[in-house]
Amino acid sequence: MLESIVVSLYRNRGKQRRALRSPFLLAVAAAVLGFFGFTQLDAPVSRIALLALPTFTPTVTATRSFTRAPLPTYTPTHTALATRTPTLAPTSTLVPTSAPTETPLPTATSLSVEPSPTVEPTPSRREARVPILMYHHVGDLPADADAVRKSLTVSQAHFEEQMKFLADQGYTTIHIAELVNHLQTGAPLPEKPVVLTFDDGYDDSYFNVFPTLQDFGFRGTFFIIGAPTNYGSPGYLRWEQLVEMYENGMEMGAHSLTHRFNLGAARPATQETEIRQGHQLMVDHLPNWTPIFSYPSGSYDQTTLELLQELGYIAAVTTKQGALQTNAELLELRRIRIRGEWTMAQFLYWFNYFSQEKG
Ligand SMILES: [Zn+2]
Repeated sequence: MLESIVVSLYRNRGKQRRALRSPFLLAVAAAVLGFFGFTQLDAPVSRIALLALPTFTPTVTATRSFTRAPLPTYTPTHTALATRTPTLAPTSTLVPTSAPTETPLPTATSLSVEPSPTVEPTPSRREARVPILMYHHVGDLPADADAVRKSLTVSQAHFEEQMKFLADQGYTTIHIAELVNHLQTGAPLPEKPVVLTFDDGYDDSYFNVFPTLQDFGFRGTFFIIGAPTNYGSPGYLRWEQLVEMYENGMEMGAHSLTHRFNLGAARPATQETEIRQGHQLMVDHLPNWTPIFSYPSGSYDQTTLELLQELGYIAAVTTKQGALQTNAELLELRRIRIRGEWTMAQFLYWFNYFSQEKG
């Protein structure tokens, strides 16, 4: 109701201005004529002008204040979201060979009745419970290690014990890219898939993790902080080590330029620098690289997601605890943080908790 009034006022604005113009001109004419002593015209003309003016002026003022309202400025945001979703959604023509978790019974019966089903509907949502383990350091603790460093460091002995458990239980390590392909197209995964991720690109990834994974026939995913690797900071991987690992079946991902910012709280310009320059370093050293990302400290916002999409990232891992992954959240994959202070019993408890039931 109010909208229609506003619209009609808006539309009539031109007419009102034109209507206003004639009495206004009459008033001016009356004043001019009066000034020059044309008394026989003065009285009626100025009376018309005085009557006419006050009635029109408020209408015009009201129109002005109303016309500010109906200008929606939020449309572009919705458009951006709308264009974002389809790129995440699978557009594959592949028919899933392994049955998704949906119940296909009603569809199956209706299909057998229908004579010519030419197009299989692509499932709008596909999910898979695939544990993605999150490690940082593997190896010995420095003498001055604080609580944070202790929590981030799994000893070599514990790491081997954990890998042995996965091998004995028949787990197969896969890459993030394979998980994405499965979630997008339904391409089959091994029976018990697991992803091993190592954040921050410490050089113990090369000296401890890499050989241990090779001993078990496993593959890992390593998220690299661009700057310390590029400038040869002590304790971080160097490009030649990283390339060697990559060429031997390890997957590489970006973990920002400096890791100094919580991207979700950073200004867009900072996010641009952290993501774009970190990305460029990866592309420069791994030309065939498939972009995947790990959010520093798990922090991101809508700007982060849009930047990653613009740069062609197929997936990103968070620090959200869980193992249930979906094609609707490829840039928000869940992980299980493996803590350095855990005993093997605690590792088993949390691994089983997330990989079999929850999260
Ligand atoms: Zn990190």
